Amino acid sequence: MVRPHARLRLGKFDPDDTAGFEKGDKAQTHLEKNIARMDELQYRLYAESQRALLIVLQGMDASGKDGTVRHVMSGLNPQGCRVTSFKVPSAEEAKHDFLWRIHQAVPAHGVIGIFNRSHYEDVLVVRVHQLVPKSVWSARYDEINTFEKLLTKNGVTILKFFLHISKAEQKERLEERLKDPNRNWKMNPDDLKERKRWDDYVKAYEAALGRCSTSAAPWFVIPSNKKWFRNLAVSQIIVETLERMNPKFPKPAFDISKLKVK
Ligand code: AMP
Ligand code: MG
Repeated sequence: MVRPHARLRLGKFDPDDTAGFEKGDKAQTHLEKNIARMDELQYRLYAESQRALLIVLQGMDASGKDGTVRHVMSGLNPQGCRVTSFKVPSAEEAKHDFLWRIHQAVPAHGVIGIFNRSHYEDVLVVRVHQLVPKSVWSARYDEINTFEKLLTKNGVTILKFFLHISKAEQKERLEERLKDPNRNWKMNPDDLKERKRWDDYVKAYEAALGRCSTSAAPWFVIPSNKKWFRNLAVSQIIVETLERMNPKFPKPAFDISKLKVK
């Protein structure tokens, strides 16, 4: 977890780290247990319908955002779950403030929302490519903090995961996308251009994670070179958070003992 107000250096975190875990049956069993537990807790969150959980996924191209949705959220009930992928803003979206499209996608009470990319793009790609003047993007860190505070006050617990891969790992994954016909579709020629801006992205991520990690909406740096560990770490943090939220089945508003099915 990124300490609030800390000056963050991503170079200090090893993307190969597995926190002492080893790949294999044990890790797989642990992941499966987490997924099953998420399902139980989501059911209670949905029944309670008083609070929501928002999971934000960010990371460089090929860092595993899609894979995390596919492998970690696989046990969730689609009825209580909402995944939103944020792309280049549409013509309509671009005519509004940067949080307009985000706010509409925030999960309602009872729902787990997953953001595949997010409002953070507006201080990442936008900063790296100077898509708006510095005076505009630099004000956004505070605007994001205020926005997230509004959400948490309204019962939305926020978890933000930065999927941390190395530049070498990205190279392997992009090469794989070129080689493997089943992965060709994932290839975007722009990713190769973005790769050249790696260091700029690192700086932008360090600023975003450092300035926008708060106790209410913390950022987590997830070592993600090993996909199995990434899945384990993300699922573990989600389960622990849902356990802490401890959603409860609502008490019926009527006298159950007086009802009889005839
Ligand atoms: P992908 O996640 O591979 O589908 O790509 C989505 C693309 O949309 C990425 O290149 C993002 O950087 C880009 N994108 C997302 N949000 C924004 C934004 N607010 N402004 C500009 N580009 C964005
Ligand atoms: Mg992409």
